[in-house]
Amino acid sequence: MSKIYVTKSSMPSIEEYILEIENIWESHWLTNMGEKHRQFQNHLKDYLRVDNIELLINGHMALEMTLQAFDFPAGSEVITTPFTFASTTHAIVRTGLTPVFCDINKDDYLIDCSKIEELITDKTVAILPVHVYGYICNVEEIDRIAQKHNLKVIYDAAHTFGELYKGKGVGNFGDASCFSFHATKVFNSIEGGASCYRDPIIGQRIYDLKNFGIHGLNDVGGIGANAKMNEFCAAMGICNLRHIDEEIEKRRKVYERYTDLLENDKGIRIPLIQKDVKPNYAYYPILINESEFGASRDEVYDLLVSNDIYARKYFYPLTSDFDCYKGRFDSSLTPVAKWVSDRVLTLPIYADLALEDVDRIVRTIENKSKVY
Ligand SMILES: *Cc1c(COP(=O)(O)O)cnc(C)c1O
Repeated sequence: MSKIYVTKSSMPSIEEYILEIENIWESHWLTNMGEKHRQFQNHLKDYLRVDNIELLINGHMALEMTLQAFDFPAGSEVITTPFTFASTTHAIVRTGLTPVFCDINKDDYLIDCSKIEELITDKTVAILPVHVYGYICNVEEIDRIAQKHNLKVIYDAAHTFGELYKGKGVGNFGDASCFSFHATKVFNSIEGGASCYRDPIIGQRIYDLKNFGIHGLNDVGGIGANAKMNEFCAAMGICNLRHIDEEIEKRRKVYERYTDLLENDKGIRIPLIQKDVKPNYAYYPILINESEFGASRDEVYDLLVSNDIYARKYFYPLTSDFDCYKGRFDSSLTPVAKWVSDRVLTLPIYADLALEDVDRIVRTIENKSKVY
């Protein structure tokens, strides 16, 4: 029986990619905002339905450079959630800011808006919510709170590639939204990311930060780093973008198969479908209630591994419980996040996952014992 991993990177045919990179051999232009970079950025702007976008070499640098672009005073506080990938919290800390953790909702795992205001202090400068699993945060309420307290809003939109909320591209909410095009995501450019922003000054600063602050041949106006996307990644992005709608459609079939099979299982909570959202089926998170189901999340995870099926405890542990942050944060202050993190399991999902494999995964879970 072949191994099933939690995800499998989408790739164009090798012929399509070769055709796309052929003129790089003519131009010898490998990086530094070449033709592919320009094209990819324009195609993304259309696909994501945004006005302003800056490409970066990965989603993490999109977060760091977007945070830096706002030029917040060192030590300022950013309200965020610990139920996320390491990148979100690391980006805040690495840019000299202090994460303040807000709890999440029990039903959709998104930031609990009713708990944001009590965390605001005179040091708070921004809210950095995460659209976890492709669920879209309560953007209206976050916007209301931010306006009332004069805070910036930067979304970690790494999971929401191509999603629409009430017909609008998800990258249009808040002051900025950061996407990831990492190999493991719904859409990839091998490594890649982008920041969609509202204020053109922020865009200019992100550009500076990704390209050493170089303004002209003899003019370095900013203290930038290097986070440019190269032409090969951009070419991969151009190719994958041609097929993204088919890929999402194939994911939908996998997603629905899981739901058909799991929806009546006692002790398993299937993912939610959000109103007003055009989803991308990025993840299939289930929540396992041990006393009802008869096995714990960790037991189900181990059982799947013993059958060569690699699900993920995503997100476990909470970022606030990471060893590197020992003694700095108190995860008992976000009890719902902790509760979810102990019970959640994301099942394998990708465009090419065969429905028979979905059946096998579900059978393995339901049997609660080794199946061959
Ligand atoms: C993947 C991911 C990132 C980081 O993106 P990279 O492209 O891998 O650097 C940030 N936040 C979340 C929630 C992610 O899932």
